[in-house]
Amino acid sequence: MAGALAQIMAWRPYGWWWISAVLGTVFGIFMVLVTPVLIVPLFFRFKRITNSDLVERLENLLVRTGSRVRGGVWEMDMSRRTRAGNAALVGWGPSRRVVLGDTGLDYAPEEIEAILAHEIAHHVGNHIWLLIVGRGVSLAAGLFLAHQLFRFPEFFVSLGALVPVPGDPSSIGALWIFMTIWGVILAPFYRWISRRLEFWCDRFAATHTGGAEAISSALTRLCKNNLADPSPPAWAVILFHTHPPLGERIRRVRETS
Ligand SMILES: [Zn+2]
Repeated sequence: MAGALAQIMAWRPYGWWWISAVLGTVFGIFMVLVTPVLIVPLFFRFKRITNSDLVERLENLLVRTGSRVRGGVWEMDMSRRTRAGNAALVGWGPSRRVVLGDTGLDYAPEEIEAILAHEIAHHVGNHIWLLIVGRGVSLAAGLFLAHQLFRFPEFFVSLGALVPVPGDPSSIGALWIFMTIWGVILAPFYRWISRRLEFWCDRFAATHTGGAEAISSALTRLCKNNLADPSPPAWAVILFHTHPPLGERIRRVRETS
């Protein structure tokens, strides 16, 4: 990666930042598309769910929410690696399917339905693409700022640091430090957006299933099984949490649905 970046910098001393941002984003999209289909099956096994009441309930939910899923409902042996329960929509086209972690199969059917409705909401709201676009823009902005900084050798001299020469290993080191700081600055903002989206998905789940109670009890169970802190300190939420604290989620979903 660092070698390729140095070559792009040497090749295009003025345009390297946007070329690298485009390549980085394309790679990110590739990973998002490929990971669930090619990487996850290396670590887990799948089998079709035979509980026909549950399958019927989930298929009704898919129809109600306008989700095109033709690949059926499957379970994945997550219990080999974690206690965390989960549900997801995986794949594209005719092979698109619902995958439930076997860790969550002992939940009440309405809880499983609510968790799946929350996951469907992420797809309906195009949250994955929002994330990809957001990451692409902030990557391009960070690289552009670094590119501007490289044009002021005085800045590096004033820090007592080596003046980075684009394409040289010194520039990769400086860029790495700069992008790390950039990421730390942006993180609270991204976490904030992510928490808003989680609220939105909880509300979607409440609207499309049996109201606020099913999603509330499902979230409570998930929180317990994931050993998550139900009420972390506010500073930790602001800095690190992509999901709002359990109490706040339940309060919000009850208020708004
Ligand atoms: Zn979510």
